Amino acid sequence: MTEFRWGTATDVGKVRSTNQDQLLTMAPVFVVADGMGGHNGGEVAAAIAVDEMAKADGVASVDDLIEAVQTANREIVDRSKLEPELRGMGTTLVALVGMTVDESARLGVANVGDSRLYRVTDHALTQITEDHTLVEALVRDGRLTPEEALTHPQRNIVTRALGIDEKVLVDTWELAPVAGDRYVLCSDGLFNELSSAEMLDVLREVEEPAEAAVALVNAACDAGGRDNVTVVIVDVVDADGAADEAPPDRILSTHKAVPDSVLRLDPPVETGPDDPHPDEIFVDRSATKAPFVTWRLGLFVGAVLLVLGVLVSSVVAYARSAYFVGLDGEEVVIFRGRPDGVLWFDPTVEEPLVLTVAELEADDLREVVDGVEFDTLDEARDYAETLVQRAATDDP
Ligand code: MN
Repeated sequence: MTEFRWGTATDVGKVRSTNQDQLLTMAPVFVVADGMGGHNGGEVAAAIAVDEMAKADGVASVDDLIEAVQTANREIVDRSKLEPELRGMGTTLVALVGMTVDESARLGVANVGDSRLYRVTDHALTQITEDHTLVEALVRDGRLTPEEALTHPQRNIVTRALGIDEKVLVDTWELAPVAGDRYVLCSDGLFNELSSAEMLDVLREVEEPAEAAVALVNAACDAGGRDNVTVVIVDVVDADGAADEAPPDRILSTHKAVPDSVLRLDPPVETGPDDPHPDEIFVDRSATKAPFVTWRLGLFVGAVLLVLGVLVSSVVAYARSAYFVGLDGEEVVIFRGRPDGVLWFDPTVEEPLVLTVAELEADDLREVVDGVEFDTLDEARDYAETLVQRAATDDP
């Protein structure tokens, strides 16, 4: 079994009133969860996530690990349904788990959202997980440069989180444990405040994991502390039973729940007006059962729009289909439309006549004041012609 040494630190930061991050160090299971959602929802969601993951100490494959995350997800979803004020709560989750696969030691990694797992090497901080964020998707899509993503105002919008759908998309990795390797799990409150170089300085210079974790959290707070900050540092002390030779990047296999090219985003989840937390959920449902639901919803909305469209166009057709002879001020004219209008469709003047109120016969005037309706323009013209003729013959 792989042996670990670890240290942790977490802080509410300089701006937030509550710490919605949660961490778990129950070797061989290490977790960081960054909760989001108003009315303490974020704290509840993150707490459920780590409680459930604490039961994952016997996982023997990344599939087991995914199942553990799915269970945590369902627990959060169920709790949301029971307590309406918690509706919309969610949490990110990044987990590093020592496991034994076919009698050889492995590290399992699971990720949902924008908390991260890094491996510390002599020269670099290597990010193993991939963020599930709007900006990350835009970068992948070529619509944003990585540099723009660093300062993008919407960089805290996550596209995946536990607690939103019945099933959650989980990315996993299987790593080879190597004695002397150092891993860092952290919430976005760390890397949004510190550059990789700043983090690496601390991680290389401070050997004791707990001291290094505290130093990182303090540095993030000093740099602004605009979000909760959580760091879990895990050093691999002994990697007995790691059968194969470890690859330089330690990665034996990668399983991404969604192909890189897929980008489909659903509307954001309501987190409540008094949510003090800057993180937002903007759930990516591209490859779950949800697209089927979305597809059916799209069909339904389409059908409703079609019915509305047909209704509106028949009203327009009705409103515009008739003609009438009526008064436009002192002038007698042929209108297109209905005498009193239909909804917001007022009649429009189709043809003026060379005829005024004063010239009309008394009986004709009584009719024309109310408007005399016809189905076609020709019928209206014929009637108008008779008005003109009577007006002319009656003249003294
Ligand atoms: Mn956060």
